[in-house]
Amino acid sequence: MARIIGAIATSHTPTIGFALDANKQQDPAWKPIFDAYAPIQRWIAERQPDVLLIVYNDHITSFFFDHYSTFAVGVDDRYEVADEGGGARGVPPVAGHAALSRHIVQSLMTDEFDMSTFRDKPLDHGCFSPLSVLRPDTAAPVTIVPLQIGVLQFPIPTAARCYKLGQALRTAIESYPEDLKVALVATGGLSHQVHGERCGFNNTAWDERFLDLIEKDPVALTRLTHADYARLGGMEGSEVIMWLVVRGALSASVRCVHRSYYLPSMTAIATAVYENEAAPLEPPAAAEHRTRIGEQLRGTEALEGTYPYTLERSAKGYRLNRFLHTLIDPAARAAFHADEAGAYALAGLSAEEADLVRARDWRGLIHYGAIFFLLEKLAAVTGFSNLDIYAGMRGQTVAEFQTTRNQQVTYSVAAGGDKPHKEMPL
Ligand code: FE
Repeated sequence: MARIIGAIATSHTPTIGFALDANKQQDPAWKPIFDAYAPIQRWIAERQPDVLLIVYNDHITSFFFDHYSTFAVGVDDRYEVADEGGGARGVPPVAGHAALSRHIVQSLMTDEFDMSTFRDKPLDHGCFSPLSVLRPDTAAPVTIVPLQIGVLQFPIPTAARCYKLGQALRTAIESYPEDLKVALVATGGLSHQVHGERCGFNNTAWDERFLDLIEKDPVALTRLTHADYARLGGMEGSEVIMWLVVRGALSASVRCVHRSYYLPSMTAIATAVYENEAAPLEPPAAAEHRTRIGEQLRGTEALEGTYPYTLERSAKGYRLNRFLHTLIDPAARAAFHADEAGAYALAGLSAEEADLVRARDWRGLIHYGAIFFLLEKLAAVTGFSNLDIYAGMRGQTVAEFQTTRNQQVTYSVAAGGDKPHKEMPL
């Protein structure tokens, strides 16, 4: 069974990564930062977590306002460091524990937290800045699960909601059947404001109070509004509500084994380590929870020819679906028409994937992990109708399939209405 061994809390200012990359370890202005991380590094070395679940926010690097998520779990097996404008830092990618991520998402959804998922996105300083100092030995075999909280475009989740998410996260982790030692990592803050005339605002007295409360009375912090956090710790400092996600996943009383505070420039840099004193979920309770997770789709396996598009299918079919999705772009369509084999190679499709697309093998594509709604795009691009796909998936000709419909109409998602369509090659 997976268990939560404790939590690390840390600011995630870009200065931390900068100081590391610029070898400022002995510079008097920067040294206190590194000194603060030494006990955390020792704790990680001693306790050897298998997974770091990192609660962070993206700073409009990989997530933009075209689609802004509140709670987004990374479900990838590898994460690159993002380029935030001046070129990406020379930090190696880190492995993701995709199976644990999927379980966490399924568990949180079961507990009525409507989670988003992401993959194929690099992580910015919110994650990698602390991560690179937490683990100076990058060869250490640790994997991560990133949990991105959208705290930059209001409305954002309340502090209370973050705390409740943490409580559900505890069950999610502790019900994972594999033996894993999980350490949670809270990032963000403390007091700072980086925009407007109030920029440069700090409040050390509040920061110290916050560090006391997060340890001893986190529920008091759940009563504060976003305006309270902004007034006390600066507008951007209100990202500390992310610490409540981590705190909610720990026991009511925790043992603080490390705490530091340093205010070098714009953002108060705090670090802390909390040891969990909770009794882990008993195996029967964990099994019962997993049964509950499976409840919504239980029975679909008995529905013939039915393949729910789960996170597992999504992971397997991702490369193929990503390629099919490019076909909504006219330039990609033109390139596909000019050189299909070249388009497959450019997308990195495997021989099996390319064969399925080349053959317009609608049934095979579904079995492999393509989602239907991308098949209708491929059909539109290649001159087939939706009816061709339906017939093909059922192993029929279009004429045969049409006899099962009330009206014998033909259509597709292509613009231009009733275009003649090709006969499905069977
Ligand atoms: Fe931040």
